Amino acid sequence: MTRNPAIPLKAPERFFINGDWVRPRTPRMLDIVSPVTEEPIIRYPEAAPEDIDAAVAAARDAFEHGPWPRMEPSERASYLRRVAALITNRLEEIAWAWTTQVGAPISLTRKLVPQNATLFRYYADLIETYPFRDDRRRADGGAVRVLREPVGVCAAISPWNAPMVLLTYKIAAGLAAGCTMVAKPSPETPLEAYILAECIEQAGLPRGVFNLVPSGREGGDHLIRHPEIDKVGFTGSTEVGKHIMRVCADRLARVSLELGGKSAAVLLPDADFQQALPSLMVYSMPITGQVCFSLTRLLVPNARKDEFLDTFLPAVRGLKVGDPADPATQMGPLAMARQREKVEGYIAAGRAGGAVLACGGGRPRGLDKGFYVEPTVFSDVTPDMKIAREEIFGPVVSVIGYDDEDDAARKANATRYGLNGAVYSRDVERAYRFAKRMKTGGLTINGLIVDPEHPFGGYRESGMGREGGPEGLDNYLEVKTIHIA
Ligand code: NAD
Repeated sequence: MTRNPAIPLKAPERFFINGDWVRPRTPRMLDIVSPVTEEPIIRYPEAAPEDIDAAVAAARDAFEHGPWPRMEPSERASYLRRVAALITNRLEEIAWAWTTQVGAPISLTRKLVPQNATLFRYYADLIETYPFRDDRRRADGGAVRVLREPVGVCAAISPWNAPMVLLTYKIAAGLAAGCTMVAKPSPETPLEAYILAECIEQAGLPRGVFNLVPSGREGGDHLIRHPEIDKVGFTGSTEVGKHIMRVCADRLARVSLELGGKSAAVLLPDADFQQALPSLMVYSMPITGQVCFSLTRLLVPNARKDEFLDTFLPAVRGLKVGDPADPATQMGPLAMARQREKVEGYIAAGRAGGAVLACGGGRPRGLDKGFYVEPTVFSDVTPDMKIAREEIFGPVVSVIGYDDEDDAARKANATRYGLNGAVYSRDVERAYRFAKRMKTGGLTINGLIVDPEHPFGGYRESGMGREGGPEGLDNYLEVKTIHIA
């Protein structure tokens, strides 16, 4: 695989705990396999329960006795701006880390990585004016002071598909609130978390405010069960999210959950398919479909189904699939072997379930190594089919026909998820009216926008709470009401 040789793809052999790079307490190691060459490329230590306990103890000490939660918000903001500047210096390295571990095209990762710095800057600006203290009056004329205080020691657990930004959403908001953090990235993608830890160290944040303990499922489970963790900020699968909520319910630890999706793009009867095409091409299967908010169900009027397929299929067939390190590549491989196995299982289920395979379905010719799957479109899909109900997390899109707007709304909402969506129409007011009928946490009219300065999250089994925007800060705050008698 071609890659920028200046980028050292090596994870440090230590964990970041209490402001120091500390040696692992056990010799457990994790391997990362390249999605392109199928060869192991990175070996790094996995945190054991004892390492995680040390990280939580450091975060607890920093929260109870350190300056961070007690600082003026403007002082915290200046640290966050320093972190943003340090991240900005390393964007090229962050983009390559993403491309190398996940197989996301370098053209895309380069475009997206500045969001990480944006999030730190955004929360720095927000807390300068945020009403952490609100003086009010009771009906009897007495004074009331409503305070917003940091929740405490927080665990930030993230998945592998967009490794840095899904961690940054939590860390930037949690730190801005005055919390102390223990980060546990996905075992498949530790590199960006190390870069973040280095930036936080260089920015001079007090000891113990941010701690990094990369580990797998077992380590994550130990972390969420830890009695000193006041809150878990989690992004990942719905199944693990439910497990975390059940565990946290025992001690009523706070949780915010960003989970799976099966989002619909609804092309209303008057939609302009040519206008819709660019955003559908990018967002129906971004990062080889491994993005929670992908528009994986395309709802089209039955009367215009053929016209839609004539527009969409040639564009899908024309996607340039190949080495993600090549700037011309539009779609790379799936991130790991188990992911390809799962996606191929869904393609088989689509065929067996009676959907029409309109394009793709196999492995691309000429790419013998790497976890590649062709971009795949099924038409004549009905909402009861497995491929229409379950999150595939691969480059597989279902085209579902509808008769009228009521039928479209019913089909769009026929899912246990509710993360994202899009509505296309030449009439924005009509699209807006339809958008209000969709049971989903986010929507775009005539395109797809996810902006970290605005809330993002799910209805139903797509999650709980919101990340981004002021709502993302609220996730890390408790409300205290002080009455003056
Ligand atoms: P996953 O749920 O398997 O793992 C996510 C993280 O949780 C990893 O760090 C993992 O090590 C950890 N984990 C696993 N079991 C745990 C346990 N018992 N206790 C504590 N931590 C545990 O998900 P994944 O395969 O890494 O990511 C893909 C999923 O993430 C998809 O379902 C996708 O839709 C979802 N996702 C959601 C969003 C969103 O914002 N809503 C964004 C990206 C991905």
